[in-house]
Amino acid sequence: MAEPRYRRILLKLSGEALAGGGAHSIDPQMLEYYAQEIERVLRLGVQVAVVLGGGNIWRGNQAIARGMDAAQSHYMGMLATIINALALQDALERRGVFTRAMTAIKMDEVAEPYIRRRATRHLEKGRVIILAAGTGNPYFTTDSAAALRAAEIHAEIILMAKNGVDGVYSADPRRYPDAKRFEYISYMEALSRGLTVMDSTALTFCMDNNIPIIVFDPLTPGNIERIVLGEHVGTLVSS
Ligand code: UDP
Repeated sequence: MAEPRYRRILLKLSGEALAGGGAHSIDPQMLEYYAQEIERVLRLGVQVAVVLGGGNIWRGNQAIARGMDAAQSHYMGMLATIINALALQDALERRGVFTRAMTAIKMDEVAEPYIRRRATRHLEKGRVIILAAGTGNPYFTTDSAAALRAAEIHAEIILMAKNGVDGVYSADPRRYPDAKRFEYISYMEALSRGLTVMDSTALTFCMDNNIPIIVFDPLTPGNIERIVLGEHVGTLVSS
């Protein structure tokens, strides 16, 4: 069996990844797809943490623009990520994958609270941990949660799934067909050019803590496995 290049990864999936572009906020087919993709790398002996977004259900900033209190709206967004986490947990467990959903906002009846040492113990035991409720703080995003948790659990890399975009481009490739795709880009260049990797707070955190990021298209089956096995996929963002 091929030797994985990474032993512990953090996969960031946006809420939209689960929606799959259809009418539903959570598409069962997408859940099934991601559960399968995650299981593939788990079978290689790789430890997998997943941070889920919530934008398919609620995104803080949209309601703020319509007058809602900002913190209130952000808390709603964090709760949305818990709904997504439970959905992914179900899809993984139906495949026989052991999981733990852990939340940054306590919700004892449905998931464990996020406790760093417990999280790493689950990983060591081969359980997929699904980290929900972002950082637990309003005004942040789940990109920041991904960066923070990756640092805490010593994940070797963050895999940033970008639906339908296979890396970091010099401009939006859907609007500018001659936009250039980067194989590699430094944190500093991505920040100064305002390129879409993750939000700037999260990206700065990754830079300060030297956490490499791979931006890739998760909708090409096997991409997560390819990355884990050391193939160059998407764009590597590092120092
Ligand atoms: N959110 C927050 N603090 C966090 C993480 C998320 O307040 O630490 C809120 C924020 O309003 C955000 C929403 O939850 O818009 C959903 O998360 P995000 O937009 O990151 O989801 P994604 O775009 O990845 O689906």
